Amino acid sequence: MEMAVASKEKATPLPYRPRQPERTTFYRLLEQHFDDYVYANEERFEPKAGPLRPVVRPTVEAFLDCGRLHGGFARLRCPSCKDERLLAFSCQSRNFCPSCQAKRSLLFAEKLREQILAPVPHRHFTHSIPKALRGLFERERSLLSLLSQTAFEAINKSFQKLFDRKDVRPGSVSSIQTFGSFGANWNPHIHCLVTEGVFTPQGEFLPLPDPATSLLKDIEERFRRLLLSRLHRAERLSEPFMNKLMEWNPSGFSVYAEQLVLDHEPQRLEKLARYLTRAPVRIDDLSETQDSRVSLTTTPHPLTGDTLLLLDPLDWVHAICQQIPDRGQHLTRFYGAYANRIRNSRLTHQAPQTGAADSQPRAEADSPSAPSRASRACWARLIRKVFEVDPLICARCGAEMKVISVLTEPKVVDKMLRHLQEADSDRAPPEPRPEPLVSSEPIPDR
Ligand SMILES: [Zn+2]
Ligand SMILES: [Zn+2]
Repeated sequence: MEMAVASKEKATPLPYRPRQPERTTFYRLLEQHFDDYVYANEERFEPKAGPLRPVVRPTVEAFLDCGRLHGGFARLRCPSCKDERLLAFSCQSRNFCPSCQAKRSLLFAEKLREQILAPVPHRHFTHSIPKALRGLFERERSLLSLLSQTAFEAINKSFQKLFDRKDVRPGSVSSIQTFGSFGANWNPHIHCLVTEGVFTPQGEFLPLPDPATSLLKDIEERFRRLLLSRLHRAERLSEPFMNKLMEWNPSGFSVYAEQLVLDHEPQRLEKLARYLTRAPVRIDDLSETQDSRVSLTTTPHPLTGDTLLLLDPLDWVHAICQQIPDRGQHLTRFYGAYANRIRNSRLTHQAPQTGAADSQPRAEADSPSAPSRASRACWARLIRKVFEVDPLICARCGAEMKVISVLTEPKVVDKMLRHLQEADSDRAPPEPRPEPLVSSEPIPDR
């Protein structure tokens, strides 16, 4: 079938409007420097960050094909005017490709709003750790789960103490972020969207009394003690070093209670959920200098106030590749009352039930399943929402286009593209599609 598509049956050119990711600085930097980075890795980066992880190369290679026709495409035809167009595949990488992450993040936010979050107020908490511990999580990614779990436990225990009950628990959606705001520097921290109160085993919601500063101090201290003792038990911290960190003042640990979002503010909640799962770098913040360095706009540095960061390209490639999660490492998790809710996520808008089993976190299944009719429809809707264009609407007559074939075989794809290029050579180059409109006010590093 694919061979037939690539044959000479089609004499007229197919109009198309690719996203042209290769025009972005993000793409160019990776295209130019990734091979050098891999070559230099062992000597330059491995001593501190550990060996190049198996997930990195395939992710970057898939990204370099994302949105580009040579990586394969779907062929669309308008049933009304017979116009045709090609649509390139996306890489669907996690926490790396700005375009795919924007779609992923949008889907996550919608799922939260529609299926997970109870109609009660929520607060955004951020848990961060001292610099001395960050490298541990860089070299051993599985410890990130422990970090996420501990951040929730600290909140859970503090809330239970406040109500003086052990059978109640809040619901939390937690997101592991590994990047800070200074050019994707390594800074693992946890964002949690937590119910401003607890659920009883019967599903009744008990709102938190006015949050006192002492509550936050309590959470922070628990977070420090729990994490240090767990790392020690897992034989990742020696006893003397653990004790030293227990005594540090200031501790280097911090828990911030950020915005409170009320139950009648679903849009704010959705925006926050998108912020929790955003891509490590905003494409607009990135450029190249005359002397081939990477220039990044960041939040003001706490000491110098600088908002511009200049990096060697390989250091930048390293920083950005460190943000790719290992395969099977879930970045978003549901705890407490929401652990059950994700299991019963069809029970929309019912009060969550809590019980003994709820202490087990549920990881978000964050890789999309194989393309199906439903997921194609979903994908088209997401593109509409992120890019404000409808990928299935015929540019000529406005009817809805249909996918008539999908081309993945490199030989067939090349042949088809050569044919198109010849037919298209005397046209003006198409306008690139805009980059995603997903952004939020950044939260500075602490
Ligand atoms: Zn048409
Ligand atoms: Zn992609």
